[in-house]
Amino acid sequence: MGESRQVLVVGGGNAALCAAISAAENGARVTLLERAPFELRGGNSRFTAGAMRVVYNGSKDLKSLMPDLTDAEIARTDFGSYSREQFFDDLGRLTQYRTDPDLAETLIDESFATLQWMQEKGVRFLPLYGRQSFEIKGRVRFWGGLTVETWGGGPGLVDTLTDIANKHGVTVLYGARATGLISEHGRVRGVTVLREGESDVYHADAVILACGGFESSTTWRTRYLGAGWDLAKVRGTRFNTGDGIDMALTAGAAPRGHWSGCHAVAWDLNAPDFGDLNVGDNFQKHSYPLGVVVNNNGERFVDEGADFRNFTYAKYGQEILRQPRQSAWQVFDAKVTENLRDEYRIRQITRVRAGSIAELAAKMEGMNETAFVQTIEKFNAAVMTEVPFDPSIKDGRGTRGLILPKSNWANPLDEPPFEAYGVTCGITFTFGGLHINRAAQVLGQDEKPIQGLFGAGELMGGLFYFNYPGGSGLTSGAVFGRIAGRNAAGGGIEG
Ligand SMILES: Cc1cc2nc3c(=O)[nH]c(=O)nc-3n(C[C@H](O)[C@H](O)[C@H](O)COP(=O)(O)OP(=O)(O)OC[C@H]3O[C@@H](n4cnc5c(N)ncnc54)[C@H](O)[C@@H]3O)c2cc1C
Repeated sequence: MGESRQVLVVGGGNAALCAAISAAENGARVTLLERAPFELRGGNSRFTAGAMRVVYNGSKDLKSLMPDLTDAEIARTDFGSYSREQFFDDLGRLTQYRTDPDLAETLIDESFATLQWMQEKGVRFLPLYGRQSFEIKGRVRFWGGLTVETWGGGPGLVDTLTDIANKHGVTVLYGARATGLISEHGRVRGVTVLREGESDVYHADAVILACGGFESSTTWRTRYLGAGWDLAKVRGTRFNTGDGIDMALTAGAAPRGHWSGCHAVAWDLNAPDFGDLNVGDNFQKHSYPLGVVVNNNGERFVDEGADFRNFTYAKYGQEILRQPRQSAWQVFDAKVTENLRDEYRIRQITRVRAGSIAELAAKMEGMNETAFVQTIEKFNAAVMTEVPFDPSIKDGRGTRGLILPKSNWANPLDEPPFEAYGVTCGITFTFGGLHINRAAQVLGQDEKPIQGLFGAGELMGGLFYFNYPGGSGLTSGAVFGRIAGRNAAGGGIEG
């Protein structure tokens, strides 16, 4: 038997850690290079709630991912199922059928086996009760195909994966920024690294790039996403500035996917420019399907109830960016405030509250008060109150006669106190990236694999266009990270 291969993994989030563990379990000697210092480690993965979209067939499959699931929980919960066909439909519909079929099939078909692999390695999963289910007549019903979260959310996931990587003998270096790829005779042989002000060369048999997209670079955002994107807030890490994509393109890799597209959401108006690990994802404001959203002209500009939140939130951030002052207000009345997600109760919130709509208008800084009051009056008159309200299904309780309808979950705003939450656009990650095949090999301009180079996670292009089904990012990173690790270690692919 030959000597084990040396694999370098660039990145420190979910995709990189899964890749490192997989390479190590397949016999490689692995070093992981994380650009962030230890305190800020873990990339966007650490900012997540750990929600993971996975194909499953009823509670039996869930029980195998979550052995702690009790009989009482199973008895009181309608977990439903999420078939591969549903996942395909969701991904196809949301990406306007542009998603790369090879990547989509790999993501979907490997999703359950990959979560099982993570579970066997020591990652704990739980049902996402808090954010993805509603209690209807004594039974808890999940909706939108997103049922599983990791224990401890994103921080728990990163810590657990790091522990597992350590147990597998992976060397993890923090504050180590990869700056370029080293190629010899058309094969990638290592990376140059900047660490503690010193530049160094690390040699390897294979390199896995899993170092995120370019959402944290103001210049790249403006260059590729377009005018105005310099004004977006970054939801997560400040370290994803496109380094991996840049290095690979310089080495001859082909760009792929929706370079002018990204995942962006409603984010607290006064959130800082980059994510704050103490707040995590709680600056997001995802309960808009229960209310109405207006810009400072007092006009609605999206169908708040077009689909389940999981299928609209990632594209509505950019709609907010297009509004005057790049901001908007989410408005609710007392009927629904109890059902607002936990993120509406954080200390760092931009909220106004009032006993009447007119009073509320006066408190919303920058608002055209007259127009806002008229919008709410018209909206209230248009609600199809004869249709029962049920947030756990697409209830068809919409509006009648409005040029911009609300298609589901419409309620008149008529019960004080009223609340309005100020939001802006928070960018999550970019959709464009590198061309990667099913084996997680990075392809060159000639569509042939660049020998010795693999990729996974956010820096892959071709999977997401225009929109994104919630919980797919972590699953994608885990699926392709695992494959990249196995193949970089020499598992059947000439890497
Ligand atoms: C607030 C928030 C909430 C989210 N919630 C969810 C959710 O619940 N479910 C879900 O599926 N997705 C969620 N996402 C999306 C999800 O975070 C990403 O899809 C996923 O984490 C990407 O994983 P990754 O490993 O590719 O990237 P990251 O986790 O961002 O990791 C990239 C890593 O690369 C490192 N790096 C960058 N440049 C270099 C370099 N030159 N050298 C070395 N290292 C480098 C960074 O420091 C970082 O550690 C959320 C994102 C955010 C921001």
